[in-house]
Amino acid sequence: LLKKLHDPSLLKTGLMIAGEWHDKTEVTPVINPASGDVIAHVSQSQEADVEHAISTASKAFPAWSAMTGKERASVLRRWFDLVIANADDLALIMTTEQGKPLAEARAEVVYGASFLEWFAEEAKRVSGDVMSSTWRDKRTLVLKQPIGVCAAITPWNFPVAMITRKVAPAIAAGCTIVVKPAEQTPLSALAIAELAQRAGLPAGVLNVLPADSQRSVAIGKVLCDSPVVRHLSFTGSTPVGKILMRQSASTVKKLALELGGHAPFIVFDDADLDAAVEGAVQSKYRNAGQTCVCTNRFYVQDGIYDAFTERFAEAVKRIRVGDGIAPETQQGPVIDEQAMQKIESHVSDAIAKGGRLLAGGRRIQADTLFFEPTVIADVPEHALIMSEETFGPVAAIARFTDEQQAVVAANDTDSGLAAYFFTRDMARIWRVGEQLEYGMVGINTGLMSNEVAPFGGVKQSGLGREGSSYGMDEYLEMKYLCIGGI
Ligand code: ADP
Repeated sequence: LLKKLHDPSLLKTGLMIAGEWHDKTEVTPVINPASGDVIAHVSQSQEADVEHAISTASKAFPAWSAMTGKERASVLRRWFDLVIANADDLALIMTTEQGKPLAEARAEVVYGASFLEWFAEEAKRVSGDVMSSTWRDKRTLVLKQPIGVCAAITPWNFPVAMITRKVAPAIAAGCTIVVKPAEQTPLSALAIAELAQRAGLPAGVLNVLPADSQRSVAIGKVLCDSPVVRHLSFTGSTPVGKILMRQSASTVKKLALELGGHAPFIVFDDADLDAAVEGAVQSKYRNAGQTCVCTNRFYVQDGIYDAFTERFAEAVKRIRVGDGIAPETQQGPVIDEQAMQKIESHVSDAIAKGGRLLAGGRRIQADTLFFEPTVIADVPEHALIMSEETFGPVAAIARFTDEQQAVVAANDTDSGLAAYFFTRDMARIWRVGEQLEYGMVGINTGLMSNEVAPFGGVKQSGLGREGSSYGMDEYLEMKYLCIGGI
């Protein structure tokens, strides 16, 4: 990997605390999921390092928050420029540790950078409010102020974007932050932290603490228990989100949680078939099905069912699977053996319960993490895959007859992150769009994330929104000033 990078000094393996790299004797390996090879050894953060990072972030807070939004914006903007300038190297690091095809990795770097640019702009637009007073001699106004020291715990499926989507609004608002990146993908996190330092981010504003999975649990505990940390933003699984929520109760921390999804994708009889097939492939097989907004279950109406399943299966069979580094690859490996076993169990369960296999269905080669892009039709409601997130390249399709039946099935879950539907009927677009109990609804598209729109879920998919102008509110407190004697 080092030899392939234009700038090998982006490959960092230490802890970023107080603007300096700290190397530890205890290290943990980073594995390439496409080959099983060890790419690098990364330092393990200890509990004492977390305390150090929190106190550093606390010391950096007064000066950083006292800067004007415009001053903070210029640092963010320089960071954005550096991420874009180094996009090829960042994509290569990401593909090597995460597995996604290089083109997708590059697209993620650009998507991740978009939050730096967007929140650089938003940094200048934090405005308070002046209400009309109910007293003649008093004035009523609201200030928005940064919440303080923040923490972020991030997942491996978007190693850059899940960090920038939290860090950019935090530091734009004037907060300082401690990040614990996913154990599978620390190198991407450390590379962008290096670029932040080069952009002139003051020491201590951003601290990054890599750790293996076991140590991550202990670090999470220290972050939650700390009364200095005022806000915790987490993206990951629903069970871990619940643990963090429970742990944060003792300090009444403000929480932003982006948890699991179980996205439905409804195709109505009047849908544009080509567009629905294209949207289905995009929403299902991106990142080998490992995104929380990936479709998990398809509901297709009687009249279009056969045509859709046939065309969709044909399209899926054309997806080229392989090492993400190869330019022709469209689907890389899944992240690890545990993920693979969950995928295999969902497929065998769906088939055992009556599902009809139309494409794929198997691991491509023993001892590898490549799974065939899979389509299963006629999957019954009681199959596991219809109620649990698979996080893999498997599409389960069920048939429905009328609109209400599809809406009820789509809403019959504790998750509420993303949903999709395809129709050409404008009245139905409004009707179904309003009835779906989801934070985000893609209509006639399988792809909807971008920096200007609020990303987030309802029900057990989480709390709060990221990106957009709403994403900034997470990191701001309102203060009411009542000025008398006027
Ligand atoms: P995934 O299934 O995507 O790996 P996880 O929720 O297990 O989802 O992991 C997401 C992030 O949460 C990772 O950075 C991981 O290290 C961290 N994590 C996992 N368990 C805990 C925990 N108990 N406390 C704090 N962080 C945790």
